[in-house]
Amino acid sequence: MKWKEAILNLKPYQPGRSIEEVKKAYGLEQITKLASNENPFGCSEKAKDVMKNYGNSLALYPDGYATVLRSAVSEHLGVQEQELIFGNGSDEIIQVISRSLLYPGVNTVMATPTFPQYKHNAVLEGAEIREVPLVDGEHDLDSMLGAIDENTSVVWVCSPNNPTGRYVPQNVLVDFLNKVPEQVLVVLDEAYYEYVDAQDYPDTIKLLGQYKNLMVLRTFSKIYGLASYRVGYGAAHSELISRLDPAREPFNTNTIGQFAAAAALEDQEFIAYCHEMNKKGLAQFYDFCEKEGLKYYPSQGNFILIDVKGPGDEAFQFLMEKGYIVRSGNALGFPTSIRVTVGSPEQNEGVIRQLTEFLTSNK
Ligand SMILES: *Cc1c(COP(=O)(O)O)cnc(C)c1O
Repeated sequence: MKWKEAILNLKPYQPGRSIEEVKKAYGLEQITKLASNENPFGCSEKAKDVMKNYGNSLALYPDGYATVLRSAVSEHLGVQEQELIFGNGSDEIIQVISRSLLYPGVNTVMATPTFPQYKHNAVLEGAEIREVPLVDGEHDLDSMLGAIDENTSVVWVCSPNNPTGRYVPQNVLVDFLNKVPEQVLVVLDEAYYEYVDAQDYPDTIKLLGQYKNLMVLRTFSKIYGLASYRVGYGAAHSELISRLDPAREPFNTNTIGQFAAAAALEDQEFIAYCHEMNKKGLAQFYDFCEKEGLKYYPSQGNFILIDVKGPGDEAFQFLMEKGYIVRSGNALGFPTSIRVTVGSPEQNEGVIRQLTEFLTSNK
């Protein structure tokens, strides 16, 4: 077969192990999954109600324009409807951007380690990949600027960055945007935007009016607790959106997802609650790390990267056998760390207790 050369070296995405799989393997009754940065409190009741009402429209194709959701997001953000593109998760928007702007002969700049889908899609499209190491868990935007040349097509900035939880402050971002050539698209992936607490975090939607080469990505998979419905979106200048739109599948977001997301947006009380609980959860982990003398990155997301002073794989395995699924940092570019999603207070306590036991048994 005449395979695209790039696909021959790619491996499929390795998901965290499923709850059922782990239960069976270790004879456990209860499993706590803190591996994929999902919301431990689920989603808004308003979104759940949607399920009941739209269950009978399954035979019809979804609204390809996502009219109701588009109107809700447009109002929520204060942007025009034609400044939005919706995707089957923001993962799909990353794919659409890559299909449209990456090809052999151009290059794309990103941090490392960061969210792996930027690189994965760039490899598939045959573009040259320029990875710029993080400094103290943060994007090194000066070096990323240095990596840009006349063949650069897309620059990816993940803020807060997955897996470190660090972010790009307002003044640093604006300085960067002022220096990036205007023919280069800057994608700002804000999957964890609603968890951010930092006072100097930029109001990125406001920046869209000023920078026609900026695109902001957000998702309903994280704080909105709708990961299984697969709804994400991009916001950018309408010219950019209309260029990208043909690369999107016509019915890429599903009916229930569209209505559940629109309903979830109305319940900002739930979002504020999850934000507060996440802050408290992070404090639990910070306290633990301080007490145990473990290095960690203060996080603006709903996860924390903790250096366990030994192979992350071992900590991961130990925790899994006790019923806690986290991510080993080994696969994420931090071999002596684990990435733990912040859970409910009890879940956090539980994983901290097991982690303490792991550290004691390793002394
Ligand atoms: C989870 C995540 C996404 C993908 O979210 P979906 O909308 O579910 O596809 C994108 N970017 C980052 C950094 C993420 O952590």
